[in-house]
Amino acid sequence: MKNVYNMDIEKLKKAGQIAAKVREEVNSYCEEGKDFLSVINFCEERIIELEGEIAWVQISPTTTAAHFCPTKNNNPVCEKGDLLKIDIGVHIDGYIADTATTVLIPGGEDEELKLKLIETSKRALEEAGKLIKPGVTLRELGIAQMNEAKKSGFTTVTNLSGHTIDRWRVHGGLSIPTFDNSSTFELKEGDLVAIEPFITDGEGKIHEEGIASVFMQARDANVRSQQGRKILTYVRERNGLPFSTQELEQKFDHATTILGLRELKKNKIIQEYPPLTEISKRPVAQFEHTFIVGYGCITKLEE
Ligand code: MN
Ligand code: MN
Repeated sequence: MKNVYNMDIEKLKKAGQIAAKVREEVNSYCEEGKDFLSVINFCEERIIELEGEIAWVQISPTTTAAHFCPTKNNNPVCEKGDLLKIDIGVHIDGYIADTATTVLIPGGEDEELKLKLIETSKRALEEAGKLIKPGVTLRELGIAQMNEAKKSGFTTVTNLSGHTIDRWRVHGGLSIPTFDNSSTFELKEGDLVAIEPFITDGEGKIHEEGIASVFMQARDANVRSQQGRKILTYVRERNGLPFSTQELEQKFDHATTILGLRELKKNKIIQEYPPLTEISKRPVAQFEHTFIVGYGCITKLEE
């Protein structure tokens, strides 16, 4: 695993500040009647205005924990009671900050419960964040998150985890558990880590469900069709970062997007990441920060 000494701390901090600002702004942007694509567009435009680069923006509704991204043909509208996880990745020159917030659209059922999920996830992130220093073990970070969940009568989603981050790589190879996984592996100064407790009153497990609209390049090869070649050019420009169907739909027509994606999937050039839904269909809340171990959190707003 690489550590931050191989990275540009100033670029990381700038990415973190932009991600934090957009995360705060999107809270008040989301309201009943706005469609999901407009939420994505809002975040993406703000990232660009603030002179960051878009790594990804996803918006996952109530019982979906992660990896949902609207498309032209599947673009839900924010409704009363939606518990929206908005996950924002900003990069500068490949140096990535990863952050997330959860927004509740007021007026729906189980409002008190959903607000408690939000508060619990925030606290779980805060408590784990306090422990981040060189030498902290993975299990200590997991225990801190699960303890907060249990105090509220909830659980973390145990088959989702935080992760280290490398340049141009969202997942740097090491997972940060949200429960006691017994690992005494220690973080060291300069590691870049994202901590992200997902909290639910359900079983606390997710599975893949539905059609994927989030992808990453898995290997490189050439393809035959004109559509495939167009999409592949775009995928290569992403340089290992995720991309979504809606991004492609903005650049190419619908047929090119669908046929191109199909060919790249068939040739195993891209891997798909379908939406991850809580198995007992219960609501999930998530907050996330990125930390440089020994240097603090880069996705908090400047105080
Ligand atoms: Mn994230
Ligand atoms: Mn993450």
